[in-house]
Amino acid sequence: MAKKSMDCKEFNKLIPSFIEDTLEGKEAVRFLDHMNDCEECREEVHIQYLVREGLARLEDGTNFNLSGELNNKVDEYRRDLKHRKQALIVLYIFEGIAVIGAAFIIALVFILKG
Ligand SMILES: [Zn+2]
Repeated sequence: MAKKSMDCKEFNKLIPSFIEDTLEGKEAVRFLDHMNDCEECREEVHIQYLVREGLARLEDGTNFNLSGELNNKVDEYRRDLKHRKQALIVLYIFEGIAVIGAAFIIALVFILKG
C-alpha cells in the first residue's frame, strides 16, 4: 500500500499545484486518492482553496460559491484523468493492432484510398 498512498506531508506540498491546475498524471491520481481517504487533508485543501480564491475574488468583487467550485475542480480532475486513461488504452490497442497487422492495415488504406 505504501506505493499507492501519499502521506500528509507530501500531500500538503502538492496543494498549491492542485489549486493552480498544474498537478498531473500519477501525482494527481495519488493526490485525489489521499484526499478521499484523509479528512484532515481534505479540510486543508478546502482552507487553502478558500483563502487563495477568496482573497482574489474579494479584490475583484465577483460573487462566489467556492465550496461548489472546489467540488467541480475535483470532478474535473477525475474526469480528465479518466479520459487520459481511456485515451492511453485506445493508443495501446492501436499499437497492438499496428504491430500485429501493420502490413494488412497499410494494404487496406491503399485499397480504401483507391
Ligand atoms: Zn492526509
